[in-house]
Amino acid sequence: MHKNICVFCGASEGNDPAYVENARQLGHSIAAQGRRLVYGGGKKGLMGTVANAVLEAGGEAIGVIPQRLVEAETAHRGLTELEVVSDMHTRKARMAELADGFIALPGGIGTLEELFEVWTWGQIGYHNKPVGLLDVNGYYRPLIHFLKQVADQGFMRHDYLNTLHINDSPLALIQQFDDYQPKHYDRWAK
Ligand code: AMP
Repeated sequence: MHKNICVFCGASEGNDPAYVENARQLGHSIAAQGRRLVYGGGKKGLMGTVANAVLEAGGEAIGVIPQRLVEAETAHRGLTELEVVSDMHTRKARMAELADGFIALPGGIGTLEELFEVWTWGQIGYHNKPVGLLDVNGYYRPLIHFLKQVADQGFMRHDYLNTLHINDSPLALIQQFDDYQPKHYDRWAK
């Protein structure tokens, strides 16, 4: 089982209530299945929504936040654990170390950066943990379309593109993680 689920998501809530609703459902699913949330440690936006949903449902939530953002992102003081780290790179490395799999909810450029970093780490063999997108209301459809173009134009292997789990249901996405068989992708093979 992928126990520790790292969630990347917006520090905003977005304009459609479906984003908050799905973030809440994901949090509830994580807790109900005895998994643990690893996330950026903030109280704002979808970050706070996921963490509060996990805690409400009796689950554990671990936040990892750089000192500089403790105030700006309003560090969540009610978490099971809050790790305050020195900088952004340490934050991402620590979240990646703690996690058994990664899910990106809708979010902004911070979310995209975090998603692409872990997904690229998998491509060059730094880990083989599953990475997924929770595609609420087709939010990620244009990005998925673009990623197909990247593969079609020969800048990424199609089989690596296919490792990205995409689902509009939080529960089904987590289930996909448990069914996932890690494979070694040789980025450099022709
Ligand atoms: P956003 O998706 O822009 O709302 O940001 C979501 C989260 O990503 C926030 O907790 C940000 O602190 C975090 N974030 C933003 N930029 C980066 C970055 N370069 N590396 C890691 N996390 C980031």
